Amino acid sequence: MGPTADVHWHARAACRGVDGRVFYPVGASGCPDRERSEAAAKRYCATCPVVEPCRRHALSLGAAEGVWGGLTGQERAGLHPSR
Ligand code: SF4
Repeated sequence: MGPTADVHWHARAACRGVDGRVFYPVGASGCPDRERSEAAAKRYCATCPVVEPCRRHALSLGAAEGVWGGLTGQERAGLHPSR
């Protein structure tokens, strides 16, 4: 993040107060339970006003797990942090 980055984005997160387990689905990749959990997490992200800074943050951390910025770890894996 640059010096003008919104460092307070998390205060406006759609997932604020939601059980964090929603965003860390368990189970093997592709299993139905995991896919349902990921879809539930992504529904929060779809309405979230800070999806872009959240996604950039996850990419800058190299977070391999969890749904951040509307993407699973697997989906983020092919993205560069500057996107
Ligand atoms: S984009 Fe998703 S994970 Fe990120 S703050 Fe918003 S709701 Fe939470």
